[in-house]
Amino acid sequence: MENVILIRYGEIFLKGLNRPFFEKSLIANIKGALQGFQGAKVIKGQGRIYVENIDDVEGAMESLRSVFGIVSLSAALKVDKSMESLQNASRLCIKKAIESRAGDEPTFKVESRRADKSFPLNSMELSREMGAFILRKFPSLKVDVHNPDITLSVEIRENAYVYSDIIAGAGGMPVGTNGKATLLLSGGIDSPVAGWMIAKRGVKLSAVYYHSVPYTSDRAKQKVVDLAKAVSKYSGNMDLYVVPFTKIQREIYQHCPDAFLTVLMRRFMMKIAESIAIESDSKALITGESVGQVASQTLESLAVTDDAVNMPVLRPLVGFDKVEIMDIAKDIKTYDISILPYEDCCTVFVPRHPVTRPKLKAVIRAENLIDGESLMSEALENVELIKI
Ligand code: ATP
Ligand code: MG
Repeated sequence: MENVILIRYGEIFLKGLNRPFFEKSLIANIKGALQGFQGAKVIKGQGRIYVENIDDVEGAMESLRSVFGIVSLSAALKVDKSMESLQNASRLCIKKAIESRAGDEPTFKVESRRADKSFPLNSMELSREMGAFILRKFPSLKVDVHNPDITLSVEIRENAYVYSDIIAGAGGMPVGTNGKATLLLSGGIDSPVAGWMIAKRGVKLSAVYYHSVPYTSDRAKQKVVDLAKAVSKYSGNMDLYVVPFTKIQREIYQHCPDAFLTVLMRRFMMKIAESIAIESDSKALITGESVGQVASQTLESLAVTDDAVNMPVLRPLVGFDKVEIMDIAKDIKTYDISILPYEDCCTVFVPRHPVTRPKLKAVIRAENLIDGESLMSEALENVELIKI
């Protein structure tokens, strides 16, 4: 008898996809998530993935819960396909399930699946036999087939598996199955959530952060590194490009009309991110913007920002309320980092009266008052790459 983890993944959308590619990516990401678990073996079965040879099942389950593409997981007992072994495993499983419940006299049912048709009992017969066995061993238990407290599952496949818990996985698609995109990652609440959402669609991430020394400190930068690490628990390894942004901000501040400060800054952010994206084989940009949140996020401002680049700009939070975004941030454990009170490069140079409905022509006229091209080349030459 061995403790293993049984992993289920998305059958539904696999139909239209390249299945081997999906499975290969998922297995690679599972291995990545289990790097800290010495000796863990990841095995592909029929429509299932198994993890064997693990001491710390709970810890491994916790790591696997952030792997996109996993629909659900169970800690299971793997046994040979004899009735005696199945009974032993069931007894252990039920005992543990009873112990973990506070209420007395729980109800149960057995659910069996026979993928291996050479097994002598069909699934109905197997459920009945196992149910009768459990009632003999645990006389205080009662059967409830409609709404049981404990569901004991027995699967007969390559081996036999017995378990009583199914935990939800992160869903989505394996990272790497849908190309790569570049996230504009600030220290705020929104952009880490935006990155997480796109990674959930199977997209690998890289990230760009605009750093404004001396207006933003090392602590502000470290905060972004920590956010990138938190997101990478889901999205896998990520390149974080730290772009020096002070000179561009100062030039805009000195030479362009005050009202356009923010919108010009945002256009430069997008252009620089696009250059980095092209260099690193990314196909889109991601921001944490949502309509109407602040002056720079009116439809007119978004249009002017979009105009700065040719790449698609993904804004997964576009229809979300701040509260909904905060809930996700708490779930994915970025919230507590995001609310640390360090400076933000955008709050340093804030116009007194920002335009809320900028006209593209006027913005471009303002932008042409500085030598954007050489400022951007200089910034790009001084990018710092941090491997997350
Ligand atoms: P966030 O909570 O993500 O900071 P926000 O609501 O504060 O977003 P803005 O400050 O207007 O909104 O920024 C909009 C988006 O622009 C951010 O979600 C992020 O994608 C990008 N962005 C802003 N500042 C930076 C920065 N310093 N470095 C990288 N990207 C940035
Ligand atoms: Mg912000």
